[in-house]
This record gives sequence, structure tokens and C-alpha cells, in this order.
Amino acid sequence: MCPATVSVDVGRSPWLMTVNEPALGRCPRCDREIPATYLLIEYETEEGLASFAECPGCGEVVAPSRSD
Ligand SMILES: [Zn+2]
Repeated sequence: MCPATVSVDVGRSPWLMTVNEPALGRCPRCDREIPATYLLIEYETEEGLASFAECPGCGEVVAPSRSD
């Protein structure tokens, strides 16, 4: 047993992902930026393209809000 051994869950660490796509937008719940890799579904509406994504911050399925 080595006490210095630390188990780190890096499966979803955003700084380890190689993302070339722009972020989807920000979470309307926690205001965290949502990377394109968290996209769940994208569809056309009368107002344009809408999408749902799983927020890496709060874990909720949200509609990312773009702020250009
Ligand atoms: Zn969130």
C-alpha cells in the first residue's frame, strides 16, 4: 500500500480532451462552458438549429445558450 498513490478520474477532465470544435455555448443553470463533445442531440427548429447537451458542470441535460 502506497499512501502517495492517488486515484484520479480523468475520464471527463476537459483539459485532457482534444477538442477542435468550438464550444456549444454555456449552461443556463451553472454558466459553465459546454464543449462540443457533450452534445447529445441537435435538431432544426423554426428559429434555427437547437441542441441539447449534458453539462459537464452540473450534469443536467440543458440547451446551451450561445453568447456571441
Ligand atoms: Zn450546468
